[in-house]
Amino acid sequence: MPISPSIMTTYGRIDIAFTHGEGSFLISEDGKRYLDYASGIAVNAFGHCHPKLVEALQDQASKLWHTSNLYRIPEQETVAEKLVANSCADRVFFCNSGAEATEGAVKVARRYAWANGDKDRTEIICATGAFHGRTLAMLAANDRPLFREGFGPSAQGFTHVEWGDIENLKKNIGKHVAAILVEPVQGEGGARKAPPGYLKSLQEIAKQNGSLLISDEVQIGMGRSGSLFAYQQEGIEPDIIALAKGLGGGFPVGAVLARANVGDAMIPGTHGSTFGGNPLAMRSANAVLDLLLENNFLDDLKKMVTYFDKKMDELLKHDLQNSPILVHKKGSGMLRGFQLDEKVTAGNFGNVARDKGLLLVGAAENTIRLLPPLNTSKEEVDKAFDILKNVIIEMKTK
Ligand SMILES: *Cc1c(COP(=O)(O)O)cnc(C)c1O
Repeated sequence: MPISPSIMTTYGRIDIAFTHGEGSFLISEDGKRYLDYASGIAVNAFGHCHPKLVEALQDQASKLWHTSNLYRIPEQETVAEKLVANSCADRVFFCNSGAEATEGAVKVARRYAWANGDKDRTEIICATGAFHGRTLAMLAANDRPLFREGFGPSAQGFTHVEWGDIENLKKNIGKHVAAILVEPVQGEGGARKAPPGYLKSLQEIAKQNGSLLISDEVQIGMGRSGSLFAYQQEGIEPDIIALAKGLGGGFPVGAVLARANVGDAMIPGTHGSTFGGNPLAMRSANAVLDLLLENNFLDDLKKMVTYFDKKMDELLKHDLQNSPILVHKKGSGMLRGFQLDEKVTAGNFGNVARDKGLLLVGAAENTIRLLPPLNTSKEEVDKAFDILKNVIIEMKTK
């Protein structure tokens, strides 16, 4: 049956629908089981139907869904306090998506400059390859002219510097710059990890110049880097952090985190969200945070990341034997990818993998992305790499 014409055609959808999920697996209408290493684009941080998440949502669903931010929301205060206790931030604003989080971060940065009497400090410096979301303002922050085409005048105040190039940044920074907005690991841009020391230099230059540093951790945050937040691996403390994707484990939740003096530039009436941080969303985020912070989860995750990396090296070595398809491994933590040889496309690679029961996601630079649930098992990793091996063999013989 073709897809309903009632759906606006913003996606070129794959003709599969899933009826349910079990941990790292998705089950389609025809009963086929898929190992889900797409994780709803880095959203299902603990796979599907994790008992702790189901329990939290079911419990809250029978009590209270939504009250608006006109009243106190105790569940929101709990999550904000956990985020603050485990990060360099002191204030949290809750929203519902990544683009709202990045755009909210830009608003906070500009408002902070404005509140300090620095009224011309409005510019946001972004990097080439950046992806920050699809709202009108974030289209200007992205490095994809194609995304902006046909959507009218571009939002003012965004410039792009060459990713990883400090000299290029130095030429563009000045008293007009409110903030540098950067992903520690670019997801959509092709699973690109920032070169060593890049973020540290960004922070130093931002500081010297009186600008803020915004870490867009919508995709790499909430454990996906192997640490709770990716910035923690870089020896830096950003002024603002944007979160979403994994934060609700599948329930739409976004957040803007800020240092106290920065966040305090936002006074009642300056920003808002009707849905943001409602009790259902907060119970999901709270359950995700508890899972990430409990016992030795992050230590075990780091070990799994090391194992995963070793499997990537083995696959590369295996692929080298004749006319390689994989060019090199990319990314960091559990946001990984392989750049593919130009003779195959990420789309084709993904199709063959899916036929063999493994779900992956494409990214820029002809990269096939691997985004396992953070609690994936060693057996599942082995299974994924067995499938990847078979994908390569099949693609070579075609
Ligand atoms: C996905 C993503 C966004 C946008 O998130 P949405 O929830 O789709 O609005 C922003 N920044 C980064 C780094 C992302 O990966």
